Formats: sequence, C-alpha cells, structure tokens
Amino acid sequence: MFNLILFGPPGSGKGTQSERLIAKYGLKHLSTGDLLRNEIAGQTPLGMAVKNLMAEGKLVPDEIVIEMIDIALENNPHVNGFLFDGFPRTTAQAEALDKLLAQKGTEIAVVLALQVSQEELIKRLLNRGRTSDRSDDVNEDIIAARITEYEKKTAAVADHYKKFGKVKYVKGEGDIDEIFGLLCKEIDAKKVA
Ligand code: AMP
Repeated sequence: MFNLILFGPPGSGKGTQSERLIAKYGLKHLSTGDLLRNEIAGQTPLGMAVKNLMAEGKLVPDEIVIEMIDIALENNPHVNGFLFDGFPRTTAQAEALDKLLAQKGTEIAVVLALQVSQEELIKRLLNRGRTSDRSDDVNEDIIAARITEYEKKTAAVADHYKKFGKVKYVKGEGDIDEIFGLLCKEIDAKKVA
C-alpha cells in the first residue's frame, strides 16, 4: 500500500490536486471534510452534532473524525493505498492514524505539504464561496477562524511527520498542472526509493 497525506491550510488546493492524484495513482480518496458534509446532507445524528462547529470554522472533536477514518479504512481493505485530505488535523489525529495503519501493516509514505500565502488563501476561499455551496467559504470571519484553527492545531501535524523525515514541501501557487507535476515528482521519488 502507498498512503499519502496531502497537507496544507484551507484553500491550498488539496481538493483539486487530490482528484488528480487519485486518478493517476489509483488511490482511495479520504476527505474528512467531504465525509462530514455528507453526514450533514443526510441529516444523520453525527451530521447534526457537527453542523454548528463546521459552520463556525472550528475543528470537530478528534474522536469523531478518527472513528470515521477507522470505519473508512475497514470498508476499503483492497485498495492500492489512501490519500488523506484534510486529515489528520491535530497531533492526536496523526498519532491515531499511525496506529490504525500500523495495525494493518502499513504506514504513511509521504506528507505533501502545499504552501500558499495567507493573502492568496483568503482570495481563493472567498472565490470558492461565490461559486460553491460551501457556507464556510462565504464569510471572511469564518475563513479567518479556519486559518487560525490551522495555525493553532494543524501546523503541528507537519512537525509530527517531520520527526520521521516524511514531509515534502511543494509550492501551491501558480499553474495547477505545474503544481500537480511537482507533487507527482515527490510521489515517484518515494515509490522508487
Ligand atoms: P475541509 O473540507 O477539509 O476544509 O473541512 C471543512 C470543515 O470540516 C473544517 O473547517 C472542520 O470544521 C471540519 N473538519 C474536516 N476535517 C476535520 C478534521 N480532520 N478534524 C476536525 N475537523 C475537521
């Protein structure tokens, strides 16, 4: 199995690049944001429990997302590997993920960290708010709250994986194809290593 984490702040292009990467490498895409939005759309008890937190741009509790990932891993025993998008977002989530993967005899091969300036992030998210139905992209205060959550809790995830030499930084601004090429280069280097 080849498992990777696509890492970066909200608006760094994780969703866009994930689509391309899963198509090229045959990976199973696991986006906790998408899984949570599905729960809300289905009006499940879990969806109802997380709706307000998500609307405010705050992280939902670790136990909830870890449980969702645990179930998703169990439900996909025969895949080439997983691409984690928007997960892990806290050190506790990263430690839980490492443990779940170790139980399956596998691990994270690489963490690809997209780097985008704050100014560009806000511009992209406001633009996405105008063209998608994501309510958390419409309001600048909510966007700022999500970026603050990222800096407060999620940036530490990179430090966790840096300890194992697994983090590769990739410039996330510019041409989409070019960024995709840079990500593929890092993956291919890991695959032959
Ligand atoms: P995203 O689509 O990844 O930007 O996530 C949208 C929202 O879902 C976030 O602002 C959080 O409220 C919630 N969320 C998604 N993934 C996680 C996670 N791994 N841990 C906690 N909250 C999450």
